[in-house]
Amino acid sequence: MPGEPQADCLFCKIVAGEVPATVVRETETTVAFRDINPQAPTHILVIPKGHYADAATLAAEAPQLVADVLREAGTVAAEEKIAVRDGGPGTGYRVVFNTGTGAGQTVFHAHAHVLGGRGLNWPPG
Ligand code: AMP
Ligand code: ZN
Repeated sequence: MPGEPQADCLFCKIVAGEVPATVVRETETTVAFRDINPQAPTHILVIPKGHYADAATLAAEAPQLVADVLREAGTVAAEEKIAVRDGGPGTGYRVVFNTGTGAGQTVFHAHAHVLGGRGLNWPPG
């Protein structure tokens, strides 16, 4: 069944409370927690509670959850005060879905990285 927990999935274990995480927000369908290896002053992961391997799979199998994840990304950014749109350094934020090992995906449970609190280069590395 799409979305069913996977026994060997780290983020399913975080959803189940079997692996500790610094949770900053939770809804009926999502969890947001701090990345254990932050790449910016604010680096939060927003995940659907259900297991989907990546963002495209999530969009294909549970499109409403994509909206839930992106809404929560915006709420987290607002709460972290990185969502200000004045154009100065350290304002604004980036939402990233690494997809595939060649793009840096290491956990195959869909997750949005919410990054901010410093200047963010474009194009990204
Ligand atoms: P990705 O490489 O895009 O699949 O992102 C996976 C992210 O999960 C990485 O940024 C890791 O630092 C992060 N991560 C791995 N284990 C944990 C954990 N136990 N708690 C929080 N974040 C984690
Ligand atoms: Zn999972």
